[in-house]
Amino acid sequence: MKRDLTQALARWISQGRRQIGEVLFLPTDHGFLVHHHLDSPSADLEPHTDPNAARRIAVADASGEFRPIKTTPNLRRGWLLKLPDITALRTALEALYPAMLGSFLSFERGELPGVHLRETVGRQSGMYAITKKVTDNQALAVIARNCNSEHGCLKAHLWQIDPTTPVSSLPASKTDPSIPQLPGSAPFLPLLCAEACNLLVAKFREEIKKTPYTPPPADAAPTAAPPHP
Ligand code: SF4
Repeated sequence: MKRDLTQALARWISQGRRQIGEVLFLPTDHGFLVHHHLDSPSADLEPHTDPNAARRIAVADASGEFRPIKTTPNLRRGWLLKLPDITALRTALEALYPAMLGSFLSFERGELPGVHLRETVGRQSGMYAITKKVTDNQALAVIARNCNSEHGCLKAHLWQIDPTTPVSSLPASKTDPSIPQLPGSAPFLPLLCAEACNLLVAKFREEIKKTPYTPPPADAAPTAAPPHP
């Protein structure tokens, strides 16, 4: 089926959607204004007319720290993109939230199945093969620390631990793309997580490695027969 993301974006805008993650995009007589949702376009913001400026805006947080996950709610404030048309808007939104427009279009078409965590860790190899051993409790704790929408990541989960085990360490709203992950959002385009990302898998590895090895109790039954005298 044909995928035209610019056309899809125009349709979403005609539905009244005005926000993605921490970013507002507002149609005007001259194109679009794009800015952080906590900023007002009438404030004294750093203006840009090149949609590629969004790439530089997204790269680091307000303290200059690199943002490894662009969906972490730490997008810096203080900028304003004045864009002439929807093509430029698409370029900017894809720079701010890479691959997220395409994911939502796939989701709308029923073409974005979630991949459960046991399947993701089950196919890890090399230094990450150890993540196959992550227990449900370890996984739930790591997910709560890294995927929470308050300071971890604004994506909605489309996956669980396994088909019958939900991620009970996060609120149920985390698995519903129709619920905004940021309170007070304008009608929005959801950010979707179809599978645990590499960063989360790396955190599982760290968690497993820091858990001390517990030897079996001294009076445990021997696992092998003693040698003959
Ligand atoms: S696993 Fe998904 S929700 Fe969690 S941090 Fe990675 S991208 Fe975000």
